[in-house]
Amino acid sequence: MTTRKEGESPACLAGLIMDEKKHCHFCGALLTNKFVEGRIRKYCPDCREPIYENPVPATCIVVTDTACGIWLVKRNVDPKKGFWCLPGGFMELDETPEQAALRELQEETGLLGKIDMLMGITINPSPAYSSVLMAGYLVREFTGEPCAGDDASDIACFGLDRLPEIAFSSHRHFIRIYQSAYA
Ligand SMILES: [Zn+2]
Repeated sequence: MTTRKEGESPACLAGLIMDEKKHCHFCGALLTNKFVEGRIRKYCPDCREPIYENPVPATCIVVTDTACGIWLVKRNVDPKKGFWCLPGGFMELDETPEQAALRELQEETGLLGKIDMLMGITINPSPAYSSVLMAGYLVREFTGEPCAGDDASDIACFGLDRLPEIAFSSHRHFIRIYQSAYA
């Protein structure tokens, strides 16, 4: 899964913990905390507006292979560096979720996939972005030779009965859906 790098402070990159927002992104004023619409929110006293914060959208893919199981990649970046996960990553501004999923698949595995179906949407807690909105897709047809790239240091096909520890709860969620409904 791609981690975003631009626009983050070195301290933020090192720990991958999101700095608490201090300034209004409209006027630059120092934010306060205020109870607005059911919860404590960041609030700009100059704009007299709450700062709404939302999950960051990302995608992942269960790539199935009739010969061996599902394809996973090993992460070479934090968070969860060294753990296996589904191919996937964050959406760019000009992409549909499907385009984002297939682009990340190609970057991380070298495979050109065809999306079979949307398996669902869930959230994943994130130290860097508080909350990630994760769309999970199923890919059963692909071309190309598996080759790890981008944020992946390794790629392997795992039988469903011998899966390694998976990095993210949202990815585990979609693997369970595949195992229970489509395998
Ligand atoms: Zn403001």
